[in-house]
Amino acid sequence: MKRLKIASQTPSRRGVNTSRFKESIEDWVPRTPLGRMVLEGKITSIGEVFNQGYKIYEPEIVDYLIPELRQEVLDVNLIQKQTDAGEKTRFKSLVIVGNHDGYFGLGSGRHVQTRKAIEKATIDAKLNIFPVRRGCGSWICGCGEPHSLPFKVTGKCGSVRVELIPGPKGLGIVSGETAKTIIAFAGIKDCWTRSHGSTKTVPSFAFATADALMNTYRIVSPQDWAR
Ligand SMILES: [Zn+2]
Repeated sequence: MKRLKIASQTPSRRGVNTSRFKESIEDWVPRTPLGRMVLEGKITSIGEVFNQGYKIYEPEIVDYLIPELRQEVLDVNLIQKQTDAGEKTRFKSLVIVGNHDGYFGLGSGRHVQTRKAIEKATIDAKLNIFPVRRGCGSWICGCGEPHSLPFKVTGKCGSVRVELIPGPKGLGIVSGETAKTIIAFAGIKDCWTRSHGSTKTVPSFAFATADALMNTYRIVSPQDWAR
């Protein structure tokens, strides 16, 4: 029975995904109890993972449960460090993943090769996947549809503070490019943003925005996670 369930899901997955997904998923041998439950079809949605309070330790779980997941590189930076052996150069990359429908993750990775730094950041982003509570918290709008945020949220990272404010339908995301991409990946279409601190540092600004989005669920009890 369980096998059948998995098989019946395969066609839609094939339609959405690239060969990269097939490669990683077909050889996937789960290393955690959650991974095994996902592969055996005992857990079939990402919502269940959060409702039951599991922590994700394998990126394949996210690939498996959110086949329509997209990713984008937000930033790649060269970082140089003085060591005893001389100067050490590495790349630091920032990647956003999301389904544009209530789930997103932000991650970073470092490596001497750009490609590897992006790979590491993508894995990190998948492990950081988190639900976003959406709603229509704008008194101007009041349509009741989940196109914006249900209420105002604030996020912090270092000295950067980002505020996300519900907006009316059709407003769009009023913010700089980095925050706009992150908010859109989470599935929010309309909101205002306000920021304080050194917002020019892309990673801090990005993580403060992610923190604000995560606060849509963090400030309520886990029972509210049920949809
Ligand atoms: Zn509305």
